[in-house]
Amino acid sequence: MQKVFGIDIGGTSVKMGCFTAGGERLDEWAIPTRTAAGGSRILPDIAASLEAYCRRHGLARSAIAGAGIGVPGPVDAAGIVDGAVNLGWGRCDPGAAFTEATGLPAAVGNDANVAALGECWQGAGRGSQNLVMLTLGTGIGGGVVVNGELVAGCHGAAGEIGHFPVNPDEAEACGCGKRGCLEQYASAAGIVRMAGRALAADPHRPTRLREEALSAVVIFEAARAGDALALALVDRVAALLGRALATIAGVLDPEVFVIGGGMANAGEFLRGRIERAYRRLAFPASRDTPIQLARLGNDAGIVGAAKLALGAGPVKKD
Ligand SMILES: [Zn+2]
Repeated sequence: MQKVFGIDIGGTSVKMGCFTAGGERLDEWAIPTRTAAGGSRILPDIAASLEAYCRRHGLARSAIAGAGIGVPGPVDAAGIVDGAVNLGWGRCDPGAAFTEATGLPAAVGNDANVAALGECWQGAGRGSQNLVMLTLGTGIGGGVVVNGELVAGCHGAAGEIGHFPVNPDEAEACGCGKRGCLEQYASAAGIVRMAGRALAADPHRPTRLREEALSAVVIFEAARAGDALALALVDRVAALLGRALATIAGVLDPEVFVIGGGMANAGEFLRGRIERAYRRLAFPASRDTPIQLARLGNDAGIVGAAKLALGAGPVKKD
């Protein structure tokens, strides 16, 4: 059976995995992301690492069906990246550059989209063909899978759930330049920002959030311990996310929603609250759509990229 590589390019490291065409993970490893010189070393470093791997394992080029690559930036359906700030990349075609360096077919997708494909294939959405995933980290990423395939969007912006407009009165700008985006409130950075505002607005309000350096983890711990302010912040985050999912259901009506990213480590405490908010707001026909916690963690990227690779060229399964 031929093998595929799943590659997940992050701002500090590149995760790579070797998979069988059937999806079994054989190996995984990581190399540092060298972002100097406009990120021009990143693809050659990946090519060299894959070549070394193939040499070590006696794998001929013909034994590899191709590679999938997740990139932290907008990627259109043709695999063109429209800038990846964390890598130092402008508009580019990394799949073509990768193929030129390695001779392997390649498929490229946005990293959050690719993670959604991974969860759909082998994670929380296993067995489903239609899934929407929200990745709650410092910001909010999203990915949409319809009929088993990633939806990139005409401008590579499908799944940009973090930039749903939710507050027309916001004064501060989001990282995207707009004001009032979902991720300004419901991400890890967002809940910390809301907490800072609440503390400044009412300096005498009793809360243990004043005693520690603020972080999403500290806020969730305080909420679990019954701190009223922390609990109100978590409820606000869950209400916003539940409403976002209800809005998405009104467009796509997926089989399953998946919640991933660092903030999903809050587990059922957060998931249950999102679900209750969702059930109140979703159109009746999609009210019972399951909302699952992600299962693959940081591996979703390489798993999804491997799945993407299976669509990059003909695969020999014998
Ligand atoms: Zn935004």
